[in-house]
Amino acid sequence: MSERIKCLIVGSGPAGYTAAIYAARANLQPVVYEGIEPGGQLTTTTEIENFPGYPEGISGTVLMEDLKKQAQRFGTDVRFGVITRLDLSRRPFAVEVDGNPETIQADAIIIATGASAKYLGLPSEQRFRGMGVSACATCDGFFYRKKDVAVIGGGDTACEEATYLASICRQVYLVVRKNYLRASKAMQERVFATPNIEVIFEHNTQEVLGDDNGVTGMLLRSTSGDERQLAVDGVFLAIGHHPNTELVQGQINLDEQGYIVTHHGQTNIPGVFAAGDVQDPHYRQAITAAGSGCIAALECERFLAANPL
Ligand code: NDP
Repeated sequence: MSERIKCLIVGSGPAGYTAAIYAARANLQPVVYEGIEPGGQLTTTTEIENFPGYPEGISGTVLMEDLKKQAQRFGTDVRFGVITRLDLSRRPFAVEVDGNPETIQADAIIIATGASAKYLGLPSEQRFRGMGVSACATCDGFFYRKKDVAVIGGGDTACEEATYLASICRQVYLVVRKNYLRASKAMQERVFATPNIEVIFEHNTQEVLGDDNGVTGMLLRSTSGDERQLAVDGVFLAIGHHPNTELVQGQINLDEQGYIVTHHGQTNIPGVFAAGDVQDPHYRQAITAAGSGCIAALECERFLAANPL
């Protein structure tokens, strides 16, 4: 016998927990499955300085713990587990949890599975993943104390990670493929004002170099074709993210970049809503994710009231 629930929320970032707060207060008795990265991407960032209400900034982990507590306070059932399959062909939707078929039947679903870090796709990068190649400076930076590292990318994430690593490492190289940084002015200024960050513009990574003990360097090629080796112990990828839509591939409308298409939180399937980075190729901020979680929950509440099963 599968369990019947009104509102299933898949994902536990700011979108998922904000949706849960609203759904719980609307008496939808939401169930949140935390997924493989409980708390989502914010748990891998350092200080968040642009989430309204925190004039001194707040750590990503603390913010997510607080959002979880707030959701639980109103009765959200937060569960450790991974949704492994969704059947969106009919309501109630059949949900497989941790590989157990028909675990749950859900009257409505809010998908808030977020986005994951992109990699360059080099075989050498794959070979050294976890042995010097990382996509999370706050998770792994500690291992490179007083060492030399490189960050690849020119956006806000790359600049934030480079600045963070500069406080731990001896030297940080920021490898940027264009001749400018895409990051916000404030982040750029921070990078240029940090003496142990060297920005290497107009260079692409050809190979990650290393031996049985891990990464020893990188082979870079400039846009004019010159090659250069950089001796580093760690390589941090910060080249953007892709939306986590594996669960709904082939079942739901996605845009050309693979993000779920929503209109006021609703997908093209009645009863299925999406919030946060999985449906947002533009803003990708914690506060916009939280706002979209609120919208999805309000629309979900209206939908369930109008379409009871
Ligand atoms: P972005 O998409 O903004 O930047 C990705 C960077 O990686 C770009 O410089 C891009 O280069 C580069 N890149 C992409 N593919 C490759 C590749 N194959 N090889 C080399 N370089 C590559 O992603 P971010 O993760 O930095 O930011 C995502 C969003 O989150 C943004 O809206 C950002 O503002 C926001 N954010 C905000 C923060 C804050 O306010 N505190 C912190 C972190 C993120 P190119 O420019 O050439 O395309």
